[in-house]
Amino acid sequence: MNANRIQSLRGMSDILPDEAEFWDRFDETVRSWLRSYGYRPIRLPIVEPTPLFKRAIGEVTDIVEKEMYSFVDSLNGEQLTLRPEGTAGCVRAVIQHNLVAQQPQRLYYMGQMFRHERPQKGRYRQFHQVGVEALGFAGPDIDAEQILMGARLWDDLGLDGIALQLNTLGQPAERARHRGELIAYLERHGDLLDEDSRRRLHSNPLRILDSKNPALQELIHGAPRLLDHLGDESLAHFASVQQVLRDAGQPFEINPRLVRGLDYYNLTVFEWVTDRLGAQGTVCAGGRYDGLVEQLGGKPSPACGFAMGVERLTTLIREAGGATGSQPVDVYVVHQGVAASRLAARVAESLRDRGIDVLFHCGGGGFKSQMKKADASGAAFAVIIGDDEASAGEASLKPLRPVGELPNEQRRIGVDRLADAIIDATMDWEDA
Ligand code: ATP
Ligand code: MG
Repeated sequence: MNANRIQSLRGMSDILPDEAEFWDRFDETVRSWLRSYGYRPIRLPIVEPTPLFKRAIGEVTDIVEKEMYSFVDSLNGEQLTLRPEGTAGCVRAVIQHNLVAQQPQRLYYMGQMFRHERPQKGRYRQFHQVGVEALGFAGPDIDAEQILMGARLWDDLGLDGIALQLNTLGQPAERARHRGELIAYLERHGDLLDEDSRRRLHSNPLRILDSKNPALQELIHGAPRLLDHLGDESLAHFASVQQVLRDAGQPFEINPRLVRGLDYYNLTVFEWVTDRLGAQGTVCAGGRYDGLVEQLGGKPSPACGFAMGVERLTTLIREAGGATGSQPVDVYVVHQGVAASRLAARVAESLRDRGIDVLFHCGGGGFKSQMKKADASGAAFAVIIGDDEASAGEASLKPLRPVGELPNEQRRIGVDRLADAIIDATMDWEDA
């Protein structure tokens, strides 16, 4: 191996064609699912000013403290960051373009996110999210709708065994009341705390409940519950979300330790979790973030949203045995001879005019080697044009895969009837 060969960065994967085709189909399923709930796409920059994330996500969070790819723009000295999540940029855009002033918005985006984490199964430094945000809705109905959307997508993707965990973070004033009690409890067990937790004890104690350190789990389990500090309004909001879930027959578990890794959440928070991916089992997470729009300088507006990890979901589909195979073209065009090749090029375009996917042989070679490539391509048909066919204005149509009881032999057809013949045969094939 050439020592000078440059490799991709650790934790940032190439997605090769077999996988990428599967991702395309995943994206199509996701887009049509989002359309069915009236969500509209928004496309956002991958690089944003660093202060956006510090303000939105919170200074004392894993992401801002240690996971952001931040750098100085060498041309103008600006502090920039590769987006670690999408909500901050989406809210920035909504404020900047005054979107919510006109009407509430249901928005979604898909794409790369960047976090400097330790790469392992289900955890990468470049990964992909589908993010879903609803802005301008205050009531529990939208929280419940967003949660139930998840259940429908799992179904659309052929996934089962994804469990719903639910909690409420109440409002900032309620959290403040809980905070004192939580700090006192954690201080009493100060010797059990790890370095992160000790550092966060006074800056962001709630975050300690989110720790994944196994040594802390027992301590976390016994901690005072935020749920016990909530007022009537917060409790009513939470009860209403649960009621809609029960009405829909959606099982859930209330997890009082579910606090989410970002500061901007309030009231409803939720995660969809599977036990089939090892430690990285959360495939979707979100909740309400009513304070964020104002915190980023917009007119106060309630909001809630969630994000899904695409790598974790596609892995899950694969492990559940879901269809992930590639999608071959319909026709491979084989041709030899000057006149034949010119006709073949026109035939290929005319087939594409009719919606048929065509791989046109490039690079010359004899019929035999071209036919081998046609077979290997996975195409359903070869269209063969030699000088003989060309002089008659015809092509030979050869099915490459046995099709049930249907006649399987090669036949010659006038080039202007070729598309119809292929479409008819494909329909027979789909009926068979
Ligand atoms: P975790 O607790 O696993 O670190 P998180 O709370 O940091 O997740 P969110 O910020 O809520 O994750 O992101 C939403 C979803 O994006 C996660 O549930 C997960 O499916 C996915 N995700 C987050 N970080 C990564 C990563 N580094 N690699 C792959 N997927 C990720
Ligand atoms: Mg994380």
